[in-house]
Amino acid sequence: MNIEEIEKYLEENFDNLPEGCKQCVKGEKLVLFITGICNNNCYYCPLSKKRKNKDVIYANERLITTVEEAIEEAKLCSSRGVGITGGNPLLKINRTVKFLKALKKEFDDFHAHLYTTPETINKENLKLLKEADLDEIRLHPTKIFNEGYDEQYVKELCDKLNLCRKYIPHVGVEIPAIPKMENEILKLAEAIDGVAEFMNINELEFSEENYNELEKRGFLPKDDISNAIAESEETALKVIKEFKGDLFINYCPSILKDAIQMRNRLINRAKNVSKPYEVITEDGLLLRGIMIFENEDELKNMAEILDENGIEFDIFDNQIFLNPFILEDIIEEMKKQKFPITFSAYISELYPTSDHLEVERIPLITKKMKFRRRRRK
Ligand code: SF4
Repeated sequence: MNIEEIEKYLEENFDNLPEGCKQCVKGEKLVLFITGICNNNCYYCPLSKKRKNKDVIYANERLITTVEEAIEEAKLCSSRGVGITGGNPLLKINRTVKFLKALKKEFDDFHAHLYTTPETINKENLKLLKEADLDEIRLHPTKIFNEGYDEQYVKELCDKLNLCRKYIPHVGVEIPAIPKMENEILKLAEAIDGVAEFMNINELEFSEENYNELEKRGFLPKDDISNAIAESEETALKVIKEFKGDLFINYCPSILKDAIQMRNRLINRAKNVSKPYEVITEDGLLLRGIMIFENEDELKNMAEILDENGIEFDIFDNQIFLNPFILEDIIEEMKKQKFPITFSAYISELYPTSDHLEVERIPLITKKMKFRRRRRK
């Protein structure tokens, strides 16, 4: 599926999507990674080294330790809901409940969904999640994809789904689209039809961590531009086409995550964190102009000139940050007037995330340029 096809699919199906997916598509979901600890060891697990089996908390891309930081990140991203993920959040049930309750208390009408595995579902955990007002739970039946389809396991999965329904308003299943597993996935869909409300199938992707395991099993990249795996999409679409029951099956392509969900989330955050002189790109990144000075007096002179001309800027160490287009105009003007340019200048493109990761630095002036003044005759 290309972007146009996905946009068309979303237009036609948006109202049927589970609430958690709707928020995700709009970039209004806070991704709360509550712990990297997990009892499973799925060969396709995409978690990075800094998260996998590490007891760390991330709110979107930000490493956090407190509830207050999670609330702050939700505000900065204009989040209207949370997706609690891991690892397995139920292995840290008290922490999960603490964060969930705090977010629900802080924001009105704040939708919360949680990803876990059937093995950790029990009455005690569900009671706590219900008290914390969890709206939606998604079970990932890992055994089918690691060891193969097992009737008894699927029966137990249905029991766990039924138990979830007694406590949580919306109950679904979340699975990876492993290439060539359409028969198993179809059987699963038939078994949970009437028990779960929906099944969400994710396109399988290479990550740094799962690359070797996936390659060992003969999986190949779909193309040169994405991390998606060949034939994963075909498997998911075949299941959707062939399934004849009532269960709502949604396919989540990797391009949707990158090109639509992530972009929308970045745009939301950029709107809240950008400085007045920064420009928000259509991908939700920030553009800023940077002047770098070696001489402090020259930096001060430039700051005075900018101030006198009502141009907004910030000083950070030996750098001046300002609007990138104004910076280009200034350089143009200085060149025209043959003024000596005694600073380096760049346009920097960076993420609006808490780490301000720089994507690209486009040089305008990379070394000191001296323009000789013409002698007056
Ligand atoms: S259950 Fe999820 S977090 Fe745990 S190993 Fe499997 S894919 Fe990774």
